[in-house]
Amino acid sequence: MAYTDAVRSRFRKILEEVREAGLSKDERYIRSEQGVKIMVEYPRGSEPREVLNFCANNYLGLSSHPKVVEAAQTGLRERGYGMSSVRFICGTQDIHRDLERKMAEFLGKEDAILFASCFDANAAVFEVLFGEEDVIISDRLIHASLIDGIRLCSAKRDSYKNANMKHLERKLQLWKEKARHICIVTDGVFSMDGILAPLDEIAALAEEYGAIVLVDDSHATGFMGKTGRGVHEHCGVVDKIDIITTTLGKALGGASGGVIAGPKEVIEMMRNRGRPYLFSNSVPPPIVYGALEVIDLLNETTELRDRLEENAKRFRTSMAEAGFNLVPGETPIIPVMLGDAKLANDMARELLEKGIYVIGFSHPVVPMGKARIRVQLSAAHTNEDIDHAVAAFIEVGKKLEVID
Ligand SMILES: *Cc1c(COP(=O)(O)O)cnc(C)c1O
Repeated sequence: MAYTDAVRSRFRKILEEVREAGLSKDERYIRSEQGVKIMVEYPRGSEPREVLNFCANNYLGLSSHPKVVEAAQTGLRERGYGMSSVRFICGTQDIHRDLERKMAEFLGKEDAILFASCFDANAAVFEVLFGEEDVIISDRLIHASLIDGIRLCSAKRDSYKNANMKHLERKLQLWKEKARHICIVTDGVFSMDGILAPLDEIAALAEEYGAIVLVDDSHATGFMGKTGRGVHEHCGVVDKIDIITTTLGKALGGASGGVIAGPKEVIEMMRNRGRPYLFSNSVPPPIVYGALEVIDLLNETTELRDRLEENAKRFRTSMAEAGFNLVPGETPIIPVMLGDAKLANDMARELLEKGIYVIGFSHPVVPMGKARIRVQLSAAHTNEDIDHAVAAFIEVGKKLEVID
């Protein structure tokens, strides 16, 4: 027992500072399944109220889709609850391999491998592939899991300003003669701004300088591009992106699971050496069945991603007409820029009072003075839902003098 009063009081002091800075993560309790209409306890402990959800990564509305739930139930019945093993001991069912092959095909890559999460996929990928002779050049706004994954690897590190191709090219020139491999790393969609990485330009630079490209497409797989393959499809460079990491925890049903897709040697290296793969449990059968169903649904029809695109357009157009300052873009992530942190929080609170569930983001999640409300659209939103949200934004926006 060394959890002394001194240790306890140090931790308490840190927590106090977090609270005082207004950064406490107070989780709201949802008392229904995930969806567009959810029952939220607000304030905590009160009777739950129905609100319209505009802050989930449930882009295609599949989190509680009847067909996905049914597939998961079938998986539960036919293959059980869990595997109680890592993949290479006795945790691989044929369905794991089926899903890997389907994901590879969906993403347009030679092969794919499953992880417990995309966080794990990103923790595995760099350490296995790169060493001291190599350099990893990453966009400055990449996801935390990529940052951590890169930290676990002994390669040299450099970075370029967000989506700034001139800066990336300067870095490539700098490293061209000095590194065995150069790996360019970026998110496909930057989730705080809802903007895309220019993958066509990145692919062209990579070709010119002989660099490997790795894209984390977690906020795009399933809906960006004409058939929902991701930002590489949207930018017309499906064959020119070497490695894709992504999640099953957002558009693809929203449960959990991560994927790396790429050349078959890369995937085999992950299976042999990826530490989060070798030392962590396999994806549970119900989730594998659910994900197989999701990919089948998306291969059958582009209806959901088309609907999502229309929904995002409808919201963007109405909000711009109403005079709100939006970050322009083509994704279903739509930030309403407010600047001031308190204003963003007040606005989110007032919107929730009106039955619209959105979240205010402020420093340190976004730069100082760039506080915002991030709105996320879903294919499951109806026109009525969207119009209702816009009306609430206008009413609250006028009250708080964000718009005239
Ligand atoms: C959400 C997200 C992750 C984490 O995915 P999990 O499967 O939930 O671990 C990784 N990278 C990016 C870019 C993400 O948006």
